Amino acid sequence: VWVEGNLVETGRAARIEVVGRRIAQVQVVEGELDRWVSAGLVDLQVNGYGGFDANAARPSAGEVRGMVERLWQHGVTSLCPTVVTAGEVEMRERLRAIAGACQAHRLVAHSVPCIHVEGPAISPEDGPRGAHDVEHVRPPSLAELDRWQESAGGRVGIVTLAPEWPGTPQYIAAARAASIVVAIGHTAASREQIGAAVDAGASLSTHLGNGAHATLERLHNYIWEQLAEDRLSASLIFDGHHLPPAVMKVMLRAKGLRRVVLVSDSVALAGSPPGAYETPVGSAVVLSADGSLRRRGTPYLAGSAGCLLDGVNNAMRHAGLSVRDAVSLATLRPATIIGRPGRAGLRPGADADLVVFDRDPRTGALAVVSTVVAGDPVYRRP
Ligand SMILES: [Zn+2]
Repeated sequence: VWVEGNLVETGRAARIEVVGRRIAQVQVVEGELDRWVSAGLVDLQVNGYGGFDANAARPSAGEVRGMVERLWQHGVTSLCPTVVTAGEVEMRERLRAIAGACQAHRLVAHSVPCIHVEGPAISPEDGPRGAHDVEHVRPPSLAELDRWQESAGGRVGIVTLAPEWPGTPQYIAAARAASIVVAIGHTAASREQIGAAVDAGASLSTHLGNGAHATLERLHNYIWEQLAEDRLSASLIFDGHHLPPAVMKVMLRAKGLRRVVLVSDSVALAGSPPGAYETPVGSAVVLSADGSLRRRGTPYLAGSAGCLLDGVNNAMRHAGLSVRDAVSLATLRPATIIGRPGRAGLRPGADADLVVFDRDPRTGALAVVSTVVAGDPVYRRP
């Protein structure tokens, strides 16, 4: 199988040969094509998409498979289904459903490099807690982490927590020893608590700037502390609603390209037509034509309705990034964070996870033409 396009990484036109599940060769050719090609997008935080929900009240392997297949249409070839704060029984059922989907479907297993557990050891305070259920917020527990892994078949690879809980450094050190990425998020931590977490091995801030108090002390706060900490990468939601353009630009510059990763943090309603909806937990929400999802009658966001490619396009549009740099924040950076260098770029021996794009002639925005997962063509635009 051959795939053709201008390489996003270099701008050069190329033909890529796929043999089996891997890229066999990348041949640079003369001229310029009307298509672009990059490694598949890697989304470290996906709660749901297209009506499919990783946190469904009745979780199932079909729910997870549907989410993965819908995201292939948007160029996402690797994603971390994200299980959020709930009772332990419910969380383990959701983890089991994800593991079941991976066991049942080869390409789903390929597209789920690991699972992200966000919570339950987060801040109970309004603001930092975001939309997580306060009733189920609890301290970090290594015994519970073991039970998650039992349900998930060892697939939990990222845990987001608030480091102000007592015992967090010990928890982080043990999780790191088990090759789990520990992220700081939904937190109201002090400078010292953030420092101790990073010393213990925390390496990522989860959706920095969101899951925070509406009003903060201007100079001494956990956003500045995490922005300034060079041992932390930051995941950012560039859906155009969670962070205003000025904040997107400033956070990118403060962290530098090498420490930023874009995530969608999309919820099950993402990919649905605009309208009023009831979520499974019974809250009324409105999905607007501008792509924002808010609790009905309030200005409060109720999750992200975008996909990772929207974030890439917003990074070009609002933060002035080149196509190469913007795409790297959704390919190379996340693949590196979860230790999957084989998914970080197009070169011989890499996983044959590819996306072919065309670009809006007016705005330069990328749109998916076709997607290949582990050498299998899984999507072509009608
Ligand atoms: Zn969150």
